[in-house]
Amino acid sequence: MASLKDKLIGHLVTSQEKGSCNKITIVGVGAVGMACAISVLMKDLADEVALVDVMEDKLKGEMMDLQHGSLFLHTAKIVSGKDYSVSAGSKLVVITAGARQQEGESRLNLVQRNVNIFKFIIPDIVKHSPNCILLVVSNPVDVLTYVAWKLSGLPMHRVIGSGCNLDSARFRYLMGERLGIHCSSCHGWVIGEHGDSSVPVWSGMNVAGVSLKELHPEMGTDKDKENWKKMHKDVVDSAYEVIKLKGYTSWAIGLSVADLAQTIMKNLCRVHPVSTMVKDFYGIKNEVFLSLPCILDNNGIANIVKMTLKPDETEQIQKSATTLWDIQKELKL
Ligand code: NAD
Repeated sequence: MASLKDKLIGHLVTSQEKGSCNKITIVGVGAVGMACAISVLMKDLADEVALVDVMEDKLKGEMMDLQHGSLFLHTAKIVSGKDYSVSAGSKLVVITAGARQQEGESRLNLVQRNVNIFKFIIPDIVKHSPNCILLVVSNPVDVLTYVAWKLSGLPMHRVIGSGCNLDSARFRYLMGERLGIHCSSCHGWVIGEHGDSSVPVWSGMNVAGVSLKELHPEMGTDKDKENWKKMHKDVVDSAYEVIKLKGYTSWAIGLSVADLAQTIMKNLCRVHPVSTMVKDFYGIKNEVFLSLPCILDNNGIANIVKMTLKPDETEQIQKSATTLWDIQKELKL
């Protein structure tokens, strides 16, 4: 007997292959993974979103909760699974799995725990999505982007760390608060290591092309009576502060990841401060990943913008590179 569905629908063809074209997978459905998921969904960037985690009940619960919001979204398929076959054919894979900082703990302290997790997840991701772009968010993000690159065998332009995209967003928010101007009109770049040794490029700060450093030459120095340097300290301290207050950070990183995902999925060629292989830039001799302004498109990092840095800024970047290399060379991959 014909089912209700058969009575309702007249078939033009007998069977249809329904493949996705713009699939995004998020690995890790903790606070950060779910903030990334909702931000990506609300921006309509994918026709399919897949979630992967090891905690099966939590994973299924998060998937169902999002599926029930489908009426208000425009992503046809939301799936999940512990097995990476659910991620097959992804264009972009966002990795948020792993341990997070406890109150007062540094990002670099997380390294070995998260390297061990990456050894399990990276080969499986690549097996099912050999053409994907990997966007690493788990901390310490710069070291783990290097680890993901090594473990994946993918070309370097397809392995990206979210890096200083969040640090720069925090910097621009605080700059906007000081000036009473929305942060989208406040331009400023934080580069280098995500977190403790990040480098603010004071010389590049501008509003409508007007250089703040030219108007206020003490900017970023200890002689500055307005103490703009504190703004960068506040950026560095902000994750520690939010973790102390609410236990983790999530919304800002989720929104910033969705912004990167938008550039990648829509081939926008926008410039973002993300973590990439910086060997041979600014006199760096080792294979480390740090944030520089990168031109992103749907192949990953197409090119890097060569920022004019002051000697002390170059020195700080080189120092971060040495710190990271000292950690990386001890890792057992
Ligand atoms: P969380 O503890 O809430 O979630 C982590 C998730 O990873 C859990 O659901 C856990 O089950 C999952 N997981 C663990 N091992 C796994 C495995 N082998 N395979 C799949 N999933 C696995 O943590 P969180 O607050 O969501 O933070 C996640 C990571 O993001 C941390 O490393 C944190 O430091 C980092 N983070 C990065 C930034 C950034 O700017 N790059 C910002 C905030 C947080």
